[in-house]
Amino acid sequence: MRYECPVCGDSLEVVCDYGKVDRSRLDAALNCFSGMWDFRELLPVREGRNIISMKEGATPLYPAKEKTGCRAYWKDETRNPTLSFKDRPNTVGISAAKELGYQEVSTASTGNGGASLAAYAAKGGMRCHISIPDSTPMGKMVQAQFHGAELTLCTGDYSDSYRVNRELSEKNGWANITSTYLNPYTMEGDKTIAYEIFAQLGRRVPDWIAVPLGAGAMLTGIYKGFRELQLFGFCSRLPRMIGVQAEGCAPIIDAWLEKRDEVQAWQQCSTIAGAIADPLKGYEKDGTRTLHTIYRSNGAGVKLSDEDIMAAVKRLARREGLFAEPASAAAAAAIERLAADQVIGENDTAVGIITAHGLKSGLQITKKGDK
Ligand SMILES: *Cc1c(COP(=O)(O)O)cnc(C)c1O
Repeated sequence: MRYECPVCGDSLEVVCDYGKVDRSRLDAALNCFSGMWDFRELLPVREGRNIISMKEGATPLYPAKEKTGCRAYWKDETRNPTLSFKDRPNTVGISAAKELGYQEVSTASTGNGGASLAAYAAKGGMRCHISIPDSTPMGKMVQAQFHGAELTLCTGDYSDSYRVNRELSEKNGWANITSTYLNPYTMEGDKTIAYEIFAQLGRRVPDWIAVPLGAGAMLTGIYKGFRELQLFGFCSRLPRMIGVQAEGCAPIIDAWLEKRDEVQAWQQCSTIAGAIADPLKGYEKDGTRTLHTIYRSNGAGVKLSDEDIMAAVKRLARREGLFAEPASAAAAAAIERLAADQVIGENDTAVGIITAHGLKSGLQITKKGDK
């Protein structure tokens, strides 16, 4: 598997031969889909027998019940097989690896990605190796371990795990499925979120989509999905992409706020939103790629305090019945913030991607009377 251009060192992107795509099949899938592989016309796996799937995708899109200041919807990715959207990039990444003849896969993870890949490797009868920070919440580690993955606990932050996993994978010949831009196939799975939102809104493009960012491959993947819908003539415009980070780890949003052209890595990160605490050390160009998608979509960036993020976790749980982990609730909080600031207009449609379930993120019982 190749991970970067041998000439310039940049990350790779899957290019689909659009001339060979059967548009009528896409059209049919937009009318009725029961999982993301119904969109396989645009996914990079040739043989159906190589697809390792557990009916991921086809997650609900709900109109927000609470007042958000705009027409908000939540895309409930907690409903995926391992309770996070990471099942989308991983089902594509591991299926592509299988097609290329690999029997062992690996990923660096802040928890959800590893738990997910472990489950898919179990399903596909492959061996799985995961490098994660030793501070990862127990729920996510337990999930990965019960699925039979080999865990390497790394001191330091996500970037340290990323480096360890890269070294181990190169040395041992494992397919590295790390769903930053490192593995080029995984972002193709993220695209399916766009197809589903478009179909679920009655073939309309929302004005805004808010996405919590690690390195941001999901944000770029969703935007690519809409660009493809435009290419095939299903829609004429594109959504504006909102990148969301925590104040304690915001390399991409800081670059956006300062109107810079490049993202700089952070040396340290500290936030309750552990799933998006990616300082980007050693692969800051991944952050730059995300920054450029935000600029290109005429989008926006938001960074939130841990207090605001926790308030959003509680609001979603108590008013919408939706138990999101902090990183995920940040998407909802960002929409409310931008609507309050009148960046998002009251008649604008905005979709927040609720990326993962709260149950495995290490949240504690709050004190009685605590609001
Ligand atoms: C991985 C993850 C993200 C960020 O996705 P990227 O594609 O890495 O930017 C957001 N939320 C949750 C819960 C995650 O696990």
